[in-house]
Amino acid sequence: MGVLARGDVALADGSVVAWQFTDRTDGVSAPPYGEANLALHVDDDPDAVAANRERLAANLGIGVDDLVTMTQVHGRELVVVAGPLGEVEPPQADAVLTEAQDVALVAQVADCVPILLAGPQGTIAAVHAGWRGVVAGVVPASIEAFVERGVQPASIRAWVGPAICPACYEVGDDVREQVAAAAESAYAVTAQGTPAVDVRAGVLEQLARYQIAAEVIETCTAEDDRLYSYRRDGRTGRQAGVIIRRSPRR
Ligand SMILES: [Zn+2]
Repeated sequence: MGVLARGDVALADGSVVAWQFTDRTDGVSAPPYGEANLALHVDDDPDAVAANRERLAANLGIGVDDLVTMTQVHGRELVVVAGPLGEVEPPQADAVLTEAQDVALVAQVADCVPILLAGPQGTIAAVHAGWRGVVAGVVPASIEAFVERGVQPASIRAWVGPAICPACYEVGDDVREQVAAAAESAYAVTAQGTPAVDVRAGVLEQLARYQIAAEVIETCTAEDDRLYSYRRDGRTGRQAGVIIRRSPRR
């Protein structure tokens, strides 16, 4: 399982928040999903997806059942999980939060923006936001979930992963207007001068309203062959943003 970017943050209690953005390399999926597709909903061979997820879990030092994925629906709902899902189906949501340790939260993407969040006491979340997510406000909804748990917004660390850049992301005028109404810095033009959306800029604007300055992995999914891009390839796989809080004993 290839990793485009990763990092660790040590917390006061000795636990460590580890975040990463995977890429499409070093997996077992066959074309057009090659190689490290993590998504079951894109018609890839389920056995290949399972094997890729095993690799991801092994790299994180956990079992595959400790990966928490979502059925993402381009909405604003956040679900809170107390631990591994077990026999429960992945929740329909675009954000997942936990206060548990040694559970990895996974946001699957191929052009949309993966956002990983961590509070100073170890609350973590993984968020998926495309243009619809910016309009729906999944990022503010996620920050509010931290606030409800007593976390000061400005103390939240955020990592924003690879996503399609505005030069590559032509949309209709109507879409651009909707997104710009939610976050004006998302208003953009393509390399050809046609209407575009800068989804990542919209996400960063929504974070900045809470005084959260994210660490950004600037890579464009449509321009980098190491990454899945739905806009570039259509039928393709999904990489992921993954966050875990490791307990002190690990
Ligand atoms: Zn681009």
